[in-house]
Amino acid sequence: MDKISIIVSCYNEEKTVNILIDKLEEVAQDEVFKDVEFEYVFVNDGSKDETLNILKKMSDEKKNVRYISFSRNFGKEAAMLAGLEYATGDYFALMDADLQDPPELLREMYISIKTEDYDCIATRRVTRKGEPLLRSFFSRTFYKLINKMTDFEMVDGARDYGLMTKQVRDSIISMKEYNRYYKGLFAFVGFKKKWIEYENVERVAGETKWSFWKLFKYALEGITAFTTTPLAIASVIGLLFCLISGIAIIFIIIKTLVYGDATSGWPSLACIIMFMGGIQLLSLGIIGQYLSKTYLEVKNRPIYIIREHDNK
Ligand code: UDP
Ligand code: MG
Repeated sequence: MDKISIIVSCYNEEKTVNILIDKLEEVAQDEVFKDVEFEYVFVNDGSKDETLNILKKMSDEKKNVRYISFSRNFGKEAAMLAGLEYATGDYFALMDADLQDPPELLREMYISIKTEDYDCIATRRVTRKGEPLLRSFFSRTFYKLINKMTDFEMVDGARDYGLMTKQVRDSIISMKEYNRYYKGLFAFVGFKKKWIEYENVERVAGETKWSFWKLFKYALEGITAFTTTPLAIASVIGLLFCLISGIAIIFIIIKTLVYGDATSGWPSLACIIMFMGGIQLLSLGIIGQYLSKTYLEVKNRPIYIIREHDNK
């Protein structure tokens, strides 16, 4: 008998968890899952609302509902890691609490992983319907950028939602880095992947937890965690400007010798100084980003702290 662990990270999801579990139990009734046991692992990521109490109650009522609760909000990445570590199944699925990851896809995923030779089934949204335009634009640009800089492909519109074997899960949790970026880790481990596409679904209830600023920081995380190309770019720009200034110096010397004019042209000089200052600060900033990530990594702090969990 197979056991599928469904891992759901929850941050202020009091309105959605009940709807989600009903839907999941409905899907579990399907013919395909008649020899399958389900385990639901909810990770409460420091919610400030009633989420934890709802989860506790649910866990008391249903023997296959388990929960972990963090001591504060550690972020979705930490919650997914904790869930993957805590779950005990043969197959693992990561899912959002807001039903934006359609549970009925589990059917198709399970059939694929059992009958075809795949290690994991991943999902991607083909539309970004219902998402602010500016946000879609930045997301697209981000994927274009990061794919130019890394050796493995990060798929645009990829969700964290998917089903994976124990082997894939083990390789993902073996990476204990502090600055986690799941989509990158998932691309990094490789394995045989099948992509399932679906249309964007809007949240059933509650609100998104991702502000533009949070997403921007997350994108930077993705870049700094998986490529050092920006460091190389900084050096290349530096080199380029050295060359340009070398040529300019020679040009000016010759010009002065021939025409004897040395005082005019201060506005352009001021512009150049400002421009160079900007480039230097940008390069320093890039180096700083990597340095700060290294600093956090070296401290080796726990990625999450559990305050309480079920006793199953
Ligand atoms: N989430 C979390 N910790 C956080 C932020 C979000 O565990 O700090 C969870 C949230 O409860 C939800 C999932 O991550 O289950 C996705 O969040 P959300 O739906 O707000 O993001 P969106 O779908 O808008 O990108
Ligand atoms: Mg959502």
